[in-house]
Order: sequence, then structure tokens, then C-alpha cells
Amino acid sequence: MIFDKVLEIYQKYYICIHCLGRMFSLLGSYTTNYERGNSLLLSLTMENHSNYLSGDSVLHKESIINLKLLAENAHYYPSQKVLSDEGLNFVKNDSNEVCYLCHNIFSDIQKYIKKSTQILEEIEFNNFLIGSRPKAQIINQEDKFKTEFNLLEAESFKSHFNRVVGKELMKHLNKPPEFNSPEVLLIISLDFENFNVELKLKSIYIYGRYNKSIRGIPQTHWLCKKCMGNGCELCNYTGKQYLTTVEDLISPEFIIASKANDSKFHGAGREDIDVRMLGSGRPFILELRNPKIRNLDLIKIERFVNKKNRKRIRINNLRYTSKKEVIELKSSAKDTKKVYKAIVKAESKIDKEKFGYIILKLKDSFENQEIHQRTPNRVSHRRADKIRKKMIYQINGKYIKPNLFEFIIETQGGTYIKELISGDEGRTTPSFSEIFKTKLICKSLDVLEISL
Ligand SMILES: [Zn+2]
Ligand SMILES: [Zn+2]
Repeated sequence: MIFDKVLEIYQKYYICIHCLGRMFSLLGSYTTNYERGNSLLLSLTMENHSNYLSGDSVLHKESIINLKLLAENAHYYPSQKVLSDEGLNFVKNDSNEVCYLCHNIFSDIQKYIKKSTQILEEIEFNNFLIGSRPKAQIINQEDKFKTEFNLLEAESFKSHFNRVVGKELMKHLNKPPEFNSPEVLLIISLDFENFNVELKLKSIYIYGRYNKSIRGIPQTHWLCKKCMGNGCELCNYTGKQYLTTVEDLISPEFIIASKANDSKFHGAGREDIDVRMLGSGRPFILELRNPKIRNLDLIKIERFVNKKNRKRIRINNLRYTSKKEVIELKSSAKDTKKVYKAIVKAESKIDKEKFGYIILKLKDSFENQEIHQRTPNRVSHRRADKIRKKMIYQINGKYIKPNLFEFIIETQGGTYIKELISGDEGRTTPSFSEIFKTKLICKSLDVLEISL
């Protein structure tokens, strides 16, 4: 039945050996589509040659028709040779005829290899994967063809093409394919006449911790409030509300070293603009997108960033990580414990002895207890209004002046410390102001420690 189908195909169309094999790809294993196609044509030639030599006149007559079909319509050289050896004539058709299904795409794989290796010349990578986007015309024509001849064991054009190019490229690059998470993804857009190769590089992720030793720098960019990033007079046409960010101070060296297109900064939570980040620093992961270089000298970059940003930003503990840890970093932010130092001003004066009593009361009211915080007034324009329950672990107070105190506060991550102190007009309760029975305002805040 397979032989009948092959003959039926060549009565109507010329298809190349690769495409013939693809039409029967689910049959037989441990071979290639080219081998399949060639085996079919060779077996057919042998079968018909045998019939030609047999004494049966019907078979003999039929075999000449079939051998001519293979020689003329399939341009199959072994059939042509049998015919000429037996002294039989056949018409030598134009051997440049293009394959009805692939327009000779499969006979000219080297041009995809050449273009791909050119694109990869400057890229550092360990593994790769080939993807392809054949034009709808190619796929539709092949689908119609399969229906016409009732071909149920065919492989898709795409998977055949990807595998053939992938195997050949593997030999040229001497690098293995990676099917789940390739460092390099080459996508070949295919038309019958032309093609294009697009390169996608897997992001690299660098974990580290940062310290911020000055106030006034946000972690990442905020869009200008007035123009929402379009650029206006207020933001001096930058579209940004703050010119410099922690991200801006850290990422450029990484982008340069990795020749990445850009980067994304993922912080384990964030401190307010006017809050310093001290101690061992806040964990972050820097994602470098489309990096042409993957092996970075992290020690050198760390040194460079720290030297350039002395007295502003410091990074440490750099190491490679994965996308998976970005998700963990984000979800673990609320489970962290944080230690803050707050300098607090009181509206009315309090003497040192009374301060001592109030601290005892403060510890009693807060330590290892939950507070209720409604979204603060100052962030309500960008955060949903809801009530958050947060644990306060430990509080220590130091008397500086009758109306100036220092507090060391250990809380659950995500607690709004300024509001814990002020009360935020009753939105956080209980609050330090409530216990002190006077209005307290946080003058400055530092994060001393973040523990995961
Ligand atoms: Zn073909
Ligand atoms: Zn603006």
C-alpha cells in the first residue's frame, strides 16, 4: 500500500526525498526522513526491476511504466540507471525542478547553518535550540497534500526542519541542544523564497544584597506623576519622578559586562526613599535580558560598582541564581524579620523617668503581638485600601532629649514603621502615639537588618 501511495504521489507532483520520507515518518525508527524517502524509492526500483526481469508479461509491462515514473517524475537516479542499463528510453526532465512541498528548503540546509553561525559568532553560550515559523502557505499546502493522498503517518514540517537544522548546527557549533531552557533560541522564519533568523538569549540572574547609606534614592524608577512617563516640563522630559535609583547605580556595570539589552531589578521588598538600608543589606536579584556574555567576573563587577558609588550604595554577596529564586524572593518578603532604627520627635516634652515607664508599657503592648494597619494615607493612591495584620517582635527605646527619642524596632516584613509610630490618624492601631499620649513623628528611619 505504501508503494502504491508513492507512485500515486509522483504521478501528480514532484517532491524531494526529504519530504517523501517525512510523509511516512511514523513508520520505522532509528533513521532519518531522507533515509526513509530513499529506501522507498530504492525498494520500488528493485521491486520493479525484479518484475521487469520476471517472465510475467503483465508485471513486465507494468514495471516499465513504474520505472519510467520514478526516473522521470521522481528524478530518481537508480531508476534512471536501471532503465539505461536495460536499454530503455525515458525523458530526462529538468533536474532543477523544485519540490512541491518544501521548494527545496530541505536540500539547502547549509544556508540556515551559515546564517545561524554568523549570528552566534559574538555570543557566549553552552547550549541552544532551533525553532521555526514557516509561513502559513507552506503548512496549508502540506496539509492539503496529506489529505489528498490520505497520508496518516506524516511528521510536521516544523519538527522535521527544526531537527535537521538542529543536528547540523550541533556539529558546527560542537554544543548540545537543550529542549527545556536553552541559553540560545534561534527562531527561523521561513518562506518558500526567503528566510530570517531571530536570536533570543535566556536571561541571566544575579543575586546580591545592597546597602544604601544615603537618603533620597528610591529602589527603582517611578514614573513622573504628571506625565506618567511621557516626559514633561516637571520631570525635565525624563519621564521619571526621581533621577537616580538604587537600580541605576547598580545595573549599568552588569549590562556592560554581559552586553545585555537591558535589566530588571527584583528587590526583596523595598525601603522608602528617605530610609537608609544598613546592616548586611537587602537581597535583590538583577535580571539581565538578552546577555551576549554569560560568564561574568562578579568579584570585579562588585568592586567596580562599590568604588563608583562609595558612600551611596554598596553591593555584596553576588552569585548566579535562577528565575525560580526571583519568585521566592518576592513571596518571602512578607515572612522576613526586619530591624529598624527610628529617630522620633514628640509634640510634648517628656522627662526621662516617665519615658522609662512608657517604654515598659510600650513593650507590654507590642512585643510579640499583632497590630492592625490600614493602608497608609501616603501610599493609598497606589496600594489597595485594606487592613494588614503585622507582628511586632521587639522594641527598645533610648532617651535623647525631652522630645527626641531613638527606637530599635524588630517587626515582620511589610510593616509600615512611620505609621506604627504616628498612628496615621487612627489607621494603625495600636500606635506609639497612642501609648505616649502625644503625637509622635518619625524623623528618620534606617533598616538595620533583614533576615530571611
Ligand atoms: Zn521537499
Ligand atoms: Zn513628567
